Amino acid sequence: MKKLVIASNNPGKLREFEHMLAPLGIEVVTQSQLGISEAEEPHITFVENAIAKARHVSKMSGLPALADDSGICVHALNGMPGVISARFSGLPKSDSRNNRALLEAMKDKTDRRAHYYCVLVLMNWAGDPQPIICEGEWHGEIAREERGDGGFGYDPMFWLPELGKMSSELTHDEKHAISHRGQAMKVLLERLKLG
Ligand code: IMP
Repeated sequence: MKKLVIASNNPGKLREFEHMLAPLGIEVVTQSQLGISEAEEPHITFVENAIAKARHVSKMSGLPALADDSGICVHALNGMPGVISARFSGLPKSDSRNNRALLEAMKDKTDRRAHYYCVLVLMNWAGDPQPIICEGEWHGEIAREERGDGGFGYDPMFWLPELGKMSSELTHDEKHAISHRGQAMKVLLERLKLG
C-alpha cells in the first residue's frame, strides 16, 4: 500500500494523520482533495460510522481508505456526546460552540470523568470483507474552563490529572504518544507490520 485516502475532512484529525503517516513513506491524500463528499454517519456506534466512512471513500476513489470515528464520552452525561461529539451543539459543526455547550452541560456535575475513544477502519477496497479495525481510549476529566491552544475539538477542556495539563497544552508528539488516536494508530501500524 503506497497511497491512502483519509476519509475525513476534519482539519485537526488530518493534521494528526499526516504527522503520524509521513515518516512511513505512505502518500496520504484527503477525501476533499479528491472532491469526495462526506459520508452519512447515521449509526449509534463509532465502529459502524467508521466502516460507512471508509467504504464510501474507497468506493468513490478506488483506493484504500482509512476512516476514523472518534468522540468524547462523559461519565456524568451517560456517555454523551459520544458519536455526536462533532455536532453536539448542532450544525454547522463548531468546536468552540461544542465546548461551550459541554461546559454548560457539566456546570453542576461533580463527577468530571471522561474519555476520548477512537476507532480506525482501514479498508483496502469498498467490498473488503476483512477491514482492519483498531481502537484506542484516553481517560481524563472535563475541566471547568478552557485553556491552551494546541490540538482541536474538546482538547482545551480535556484535563489530564497525571500530567497537570490540558490535552491542548501537549505537543503533537506528546499527544500522539498517549492519545486515543495515537494508540489506535500504533495498533494499526503493528497490524500492517510498519510499527
Ligand atoms: P467525527 O469526525 O464524526 O469522528 O467526530 C469527531 C469529533 O470528536 C471531533 O469533531 C471532536 O469534537 C471530537 N474529537 C475526536 N478526537 C478528538 C481529539 O483528539 N481532540 C479533541 N476532540 C476530539
